[in-house]
Parts: sequence; C-alpha cells; structure tokens
Amino acid sequence: MLYPWHQTQWQNTRRLIDSGQLPHALLLFGNSGLGKADFAHELAAAVLCQQPDAERRACGHCASCQLLSAGTHPDLYSLKPVEKKNTTSKKPALRIRIEDIRSLCDSLNQTSQFSGYRVAIIDQAEQMTLEAANSLLKTLEEPGAQVLILLVSSRPNRLPVTIRSRCQRLRFAMPDEQTALTWLQQNIEKGAETSAEALQQALKYAHGSPLGALKQMEESESYQLIAEAMTAGMSGRDALAYATKLAQLDKVQTLEVMQTWLSDLSRLSSCGADAEITNSRYRHQLQARAEKVNRQRLFRFYDQLNFNLSHSAIAVNEQLLWENLLLSWEQL
Ligand SMILES: [Zn+2]
Repeated sequence: MLYPWHQTQWQNTRRLIDSGQLPHALLLFGNSGLGKADFAHELAAAVLCQQPDAERRACGHCASCQLLSAGTHPDLYSLKPVEKKNTTSKKPALRIRIEDIRSLCDSLNQTSQFSGYRVAIIDQAEQMTLEAANSLLKTLEEPGAQVLILLVSSRPNRLPVTIRSRCQRLRFAMPDEQTALTWLQQNIEKGAETSAEALQQALKYAHGSPLGALKQMEESESYQLIAEAMTAGMSGRDALAYATKLAQLDKVQTLEVMQTWLSDLSRLSSCGADAEITNSRYRHQLQARAEKVNRQRLFRFYDQLNFNLSHSAIAVNEQLLWENLLLSWEQL
C-alpha cells in the first residue's frame, strides 16, 4: 500500500530499479505512523512481480502477485518483533531474536523459487537483539545476487552503526497538514466525528502522523481516559485511582500522550496563555495549573517520561509505573 505522502520515495526507488541500481539493503526510516512497512511490502511486491506496470507497481494478478496476496510467496520473508517463548510476563518485551535472523539469512542464501529476487522485510528492525544484529551483518556484507533486504525503523539510531552503514537510507517525512487532513477525512470510519477541529486535534496528538491520527480517533476512548487521569491530577482529585486503567492501555502510546500534556504545561508556563498547545480542549485547566507549576519538577517529570519511553521495551510493573508518573504529575 502506498500513501499520498510516499510519492517522492516511490519515484526515487523506482528510478533505482529502472537503472539497475537498486541496492541490496535499504533502511526505511522516519517517524512512526507513516506507513513505512506498507511501503516496504509494496516495494517487495514490485520487485517480485512478473509484469510490473509503467509506474513499477506490482500488477496484482501474475502468479507472484497472487502468492503475495495469499501470504505464501516463497521468496518473501518477513520478520517483526515477537514475544520470547514460554514467557510468564503479562506484557513481555518484543524482540527480534538471533534464531529468527539466522533462519532468515539461511533462506536468503537459497535459490529463488521464481528465479528472481528474494526479499526480506525486517519491521521495527531496532528491536533486533545485539546478537541478532551481528548475525545479520554477514548477509548484509555479502548478500548474493538478487537479494533485497528492507529494514524498517522509526528509531534508526538504536540500530548498531555497523548495520546502518551497510544500508542505503530512505527517509520518510511527515506530510504537510493539508495532505494529512485530506487523507484522514477520506479514511475515517463512517459515523465517526469528522469535524475539522476533531481531525486537527487528532493529528496534533499524533505529532502530524496521519496513520497515528486515524488510530487515535479509532481509540478515542483511551485518549479520553488519559485526559481524565491528567485533569484529575491537576485538580487535586485522586489521579492514582487511574493507574490500573492506564495499565490496560498501550504503554508507549500512553507515555506519548502524557508528553503532550507536559509540553502543553511547559509552553503555557513559559510562553503565556496564548501559547499553541496540543490539548486545547483543556486549555483552561492547563493554564490554571501552569501558573503554579514548579519548573524544576516539570523538567524532572520530562526526564522521567523520556526515560520510560526510551526503555519501553523493558517489561516493568505497569501499575507502579503509572502510579509513579501520576504522582509526579500531581505534584508538579
Ligand atoms: Zn504481478
């Protein structure tokens, strides 16, 4: 699937294919919520297709395309992070492990079933363990003919530099607001709230990512819950009571929403009441809180959120995590 904001990347990649200069490894990177993995699948389909069209897009009906749509193409290998086997943790860390990379590399070393390309897509590649990344190196260095390895990552800096330096980089940028809003308008479920204000708000929450905004609108209950917890914390009601409910939500997403509340508070406190903020629906309460906020605690809370975000793959007691964060928020 290609999105409207993929055009430049597609044209650049297409030129590489047409001129026979497609590298054997590409790192597709950029913020999350831009559909990079969808682009990777589209590119895989294009190089595997037996009759691509003038735009180099897969035809959708040749034998190769049919196998792809059935999810059984023997020359396409996809990997993404999975839970460790036999884990007892309720929300275990997701990783790409060495055994999966080894088996992927073994497959890439075999002959193609269609006498064409063999393609590997490694989604959320930064979740490879160090051992997994090391075992991928050899294949990245000597991939053999007609092998294409697509690494997809929203946090490419977490990939070892040895991996990054062996891939050609393909960057995905946020679309402009109008492109994002038009796409959202066309893709939002029927019956959902689609006022311009609601769409803009969702886009702000998702830091400009259209797919993130769509997901956010579909999960607006979670956002409502976080908003309740945050406003409870600001008005001295018992915010800690929300810890159990927050523990049921997606950890990273919840941390990122909390970040928007914190940066709103910080903006209102330093730029005044007219500052542009994300949670504008709660401007009044945020403004009142901003007037009394302790800036040192504010920065400390910022560090606390960042720390948890950058260590989000580590399993923690989430009940305690949210209690701590809500307490810090209450005491800003
Ligand atoms: Zn085809």
